[in-house]
Amino acid sequence: MAKIISGKEVSLAVKQEVADEVAQLKNEGIEPSLAVILVGNDPASKVYVNNKKKACDFCGIRSLEFLLGEETTQEELMELVERLNNDETVNGILCQLPLPKHLDEQAVLNAIKPQKDVDAFHPENVGHIMIGDYAMLPCTPSGIMEMFRYEGIELDGKNCVVIGRSNIVGKPMAMLMLKENATVTICHSHTENLKKIVSEADVVVAAVGIPKFVTADMIKDGAVVIDVGINRMEDGKLCGDVDYEACEKKASYITPVPGGVGPMTIATLMKNTVTAAKIQNKRGK
Ligand code: NDP
Repeated sequence: MAKIISGKEVSLAVKQEVADEVAQLKNEGIEPSLAVILVGNDPASKVYVNNKKKACDFCGIRSLEFLLGEETTQEELMELVERLNNDETVNGILCQLPLPKHLDEQAVLNAIKPQKDVDAFHPENVGHIMIGDYAMLPCTPSGIMEMFRYEGIELDGKNCVVIGRSNIVGKPMAMLMLKENATVTICHSHTENLKKIVSEADVVVAAVGIPKFVTADMIKDGAVVIDVGINRMEDGKLCGDVDYEACEKKASYITPVPGGVGPMTIATLMKNTVTAAKIQNKRGK
């Protein structure tokens, strides 16, 4: 039976560290703050924004919410980003994705000042991740790396397979594992022999968006299985990209959904907000 890596437990440890650092910064007269922009009425996005606010409250980070209507124009959104870019009391800016279809997501992400880009989606920050020298951490992949550290899982020399190549999860995940000297393969919808590739992995990270995509026959005995997927089923329950019940019997470590990678993403966001506050107040990384 696999050891369950609890995102709740690990994220609590990370948030506690952040809270301690925030308390110290406040003693120096610095109050880290995060501005979150939500456009439209997507119920899942509202839940995420609410969870981010709760994490800010826990860490002592000042949180500002900008809830904009579905009909918001590109111009209005860009104006808000510009205002927040220029507001010295705001350290981090996050625009909750996805945006309504009529809005240009990439243009908004590009407009956020790299120093305030706590999601690390700006091309400048993405470039830093690529060369392995970065202050803003890619939230979900960094949260996963934190889980490896917490559990003492070594990646050096290991065969790691990432399923999914999105800009927010798959690609930066591969970069972070590569930095730790893993041998990394990225699979996607055009990958041939995916089952064979996954079956040879010491570590599998599934970020596909298909419920129970990774089945027990695909993983090798003792593999570390990380499930990034968040899929809402018809009965309203959440399901990951991994067949948890079956893979749990074969893996050495596994993350549950919910309560796995999700809370880690938010914990890293808190870390990034403090980093942003420190950079803007010339306190180093
Ligand atoms: P995307 O939809 O952007 O990417 C999915 C990736 O999976 C693509 O690269 C796609 O390949 C690949 N894929 C799709 N079908 C197959 C297939 N049959 N075989 C192999 N690869 C396939 O998703 P995200 O990366 O944004 O998110 C992935 C999942 O993680 C979602 O469930 C999302 O909700 C969740 N998520 C969870 C987070 C958390 O904090 N826990 C944070 C972010 C996301 P191709 O590129 O060829 O199309």
